[in-house]
Amino acid sequence: MTERLYYKDPGLLNFEGTIIEVIESNGRHITVLDKTAFYPTSGGQPHDKGLLNSVAIFDVTESDGKIQHISDSAVGSKGDSVKGEVDLGRRRYFRQLHTAQHILSSVFIELYDFETVSVHLGEDYGAIELKQPSLESDQLLKAEQLSNEYILQSLPVEIIFADEQEAQKLPLRKKPSRQGTIRIIKIGAIDYSACGGTHCNNSSEVGLIKIISVEKQRSNILINFLAGTRAKKDYDKRFEVTDTLSKQLTCAVDELKLRFDKILEENKMYRQQLGQLQNELLPIKINEAAAQAESSNSTNFVCIEVDSMDSKLIGSFATSLADKISGIALIQLEDRIIIGVCDTIDIEAKDIARRFSSELNLKGGGGKTMAQLGGALKGQLNKYREVLVNILNEL
Ligand SMILES: [Zn+2]
Repeated sequence: MTERLYYKDPGLLNFEGTIIEVIESNGRHITVLDKTAFYPTSGGQPHDKGLLNSVAIFDVTESDGKIQHISDSAVGSKGDSVKGEVDLGRRRYFRQLHTAQHILSSVFIELYDFETVSVHLGEDYGAIELKQPSLESDQLLKAEQLSNEYILQSLPVEIIFADEQEAQKLPLRKKPSRQGTIRIIKIGAIDYSACGGTHCNNSSEVGLIKIISVEKQRSNILINFLAGTRAKKDYDKRFEVTDTLSKQLTCAVDELKLRFDKILEENKMYRQQLGQLQNELLPIKINEAAAQAESSNSTNFVCIEVDSMDSKLIGSFATSLADKISGIALIQLEDRIIIGVCDTIDIEAKDIARRFSSELNLKGGGGKTMAQLGGALKGQLNKYREVLVNILNEL
């Protein structure tokens, strides 16, 4: 058995212990100590990281009451004394996140009697699963507000060790599954929970709780949240984005939504105007393109590339051009090929498209007078022209 120093003092980061077991397997070194401040992955909370005699510990697991510190090189031999140092940033974040989870779970009971049935404490965010099929947005807001109010109230977080009889007298949020001595985390008078994790010493250390999203999970609701240092990191990221945008758009952050809606509306209007203009210019474009028409095996055809054209117009451009030359028009627009065929020609657009599919592995299809293909490459128009000429020569 390893004595768990974090049970009584989750703020303890530097400690000394003695190696009681070493195992080497598959290039990994497992070190078991008589006592440790390292938290092993358990109860939904990820493990600590840190150093044992300056050797990096990248994983900590638990097996039969023994806490196993896992490293790439050996920490020492059985009987050696070791100096341990738990990584402060990671420990602090999980203490914040875990305490935030207790507060949130307790608040959802207090306000709505919604029970937490599972917990996720991740490196990026935390989540609680509520036994509840749906939730109103104002309920969510109220729960977040009350949780942050409890943070501001600086509620002491106490660790109580109680036997089963003593535990029964306490208003535990959930009946403990363990027997014997039970470790209880008490936050002010708002929450009593049996838990083996690492928590803050005071609710104020959580700093901030921010609910970031809500998901449906089977018939339950999953509340995803940030706390402490991760909430600050998230704020920094969002600040940078909104600050950059507000400077670029020369407006206050509060006005960004309004400005963005206006830009979207303007963009839609410009697209419509551009489409109209291109439509008006279409006869000129058709005449220009028709002037480049060639003939093969007595069939007129034209192969051209266009830089930009409204996607709704390109089809009618191809068919109108084909009609104009009484032949076949092959137009490349970026990675698309559009084929227009005049209905006096003995081959249909979809049959030409099929040949392009089988010979050049382009994907698409169409009908009698118009077909489209995707996956075309820039600078390959001559190759596409060759394929078309071959098809015409077989007619
Ligand atoms: Zn806990």
